[in-house]
Amino acid sequence: MKKFTADYVFTVDGKTPIPNGLVVTDDEGRILSVSSYNDDNDKSIIHHKGIIVPGFINSHCHLELSHLKGKIEEKEGLPNFIKKVLALRNVSEKEIITAMKEADKLMEKNGIVAVGDISNTSISADIKAQSNIKYHTFIEMVGIDPDIADELVEKADAMKSEFANAGSVSITLHAAYTLSKNLLKNFRKYCKTHKNLISIHNQENDDENALYRYKTGAFVDFYKDLGINIDHFVAMSKNTLQALVPLFPQNQNILLVHNTFTSLKDVYMLKRFDHGFYWCFCPGANLYIENTLPHFDFFTKSELPATLGTDSLASNKTLSILEEMKIVKNSRPEISFETMLQWATLNGAKFFGWEGELGSIEKGKKPGLNLITNFKDGHITDKSEVVKLI
Ligand SMILES: [Zn+2]
Repeated sequence: MKKFTADYVFTVDGKTPIPNGLVVTDDEGRILSVSSYNDDNDKSIIHHKGIIVPGFINSHCHLELSHLKGKIEEKEGLPNFIKKVLALRNVSEKEIITAMKEADKLMEKNGIVAVGDISNTSISADIKAQSNIKYHTFIEMVGIDPDIADELVEKADAMKSEFANAGSVSITLHAAYTLSKNLLKNFRKYCKTHKNLISIHNQENDDENALYRYKTGAFVDFYKDLGINIDHFVAMSKNTLQALVPLFPQNQNILLVHNTFTSLKDVYMLKRFDHGFYWCFCPGANLYIENTLPHFDFFTKSELPATLGTDSLASNKTLSILEEMKIVKNSRPEISFETMLQWATLNGAKFFGWEGELGSIEKGKKPGLNLITNFKDGHITDKSEVVKLI
């Protein structure tokens, strides 16, 4: 049996924070009880300064891009960022694997217990199978050419077997600007017969809105530079989210990642649809690539749950959910710590269907426990650090 106490325990199960909180777990970390602590004579208890919270859920990462840490210039915008990723992809397998292992360990050290990871190949499968972190892999399909739509779905579905020992797995779309109507149609058909969690990069850059509204903007040049013909693409006079939502599969949870250029009208439009939409914010990557942040206040008006992700080391300086929370807090101090903590823990667990074990400190669960230091006036500070307790 293990006992952990801190100034407060935030259980994230709808109850108020417990002052002088005591969490008792079995040796494997399963929660036996949560209560207030007042026995000063119990020498088996170590009191921590700070707060105890559940292990973090990182809803969006690309383990495969870990070797690109520090290799891509900051603040050059998304089309340039993607061009650099494509240009820098041909490095040795050994280098990629070493960087992925380090990234996996970094996330564990930073109190992340589960990750939604985007994969374009199966190179990360062994690391995920051996990791202490729980993974869901999204096998990502990229292709604006309508003629390759069948092939993309077949290949992605076949790749699932390579992740058989690496956690759960589904196939997914990359982004509005890298799909065709054929691909969307095939994907919708696939989702009718498969349980298939969906994640899509959404409005990370305003040029994707320009492409869908008027067929203008940087992505038109992007495809011209790559020598890819997009004559078949027809502008839809709408932002990408408004254009695509009526075409999305209806029976699956859908994670909308980034939302940096999502308008209030886009947010309100989603109220008309009862798909399982979740927002996912990756503010560190938004500052790195576009030097801007989502309008967090728009999303607090939305009834949809929000989650947090780190994105990859290609577009972030570290992989830490606490660091993402600091960026949100410094941008929008009015968003409460409790709200952000829910984004960082339980909402992600619910999206992936892991809430039976993860996401909140409740009897019978095994969520992992993090200590957060330098917690002042009900909120984290720039000096806050995360210490993984279990
Ligand atoms: Zn991403």
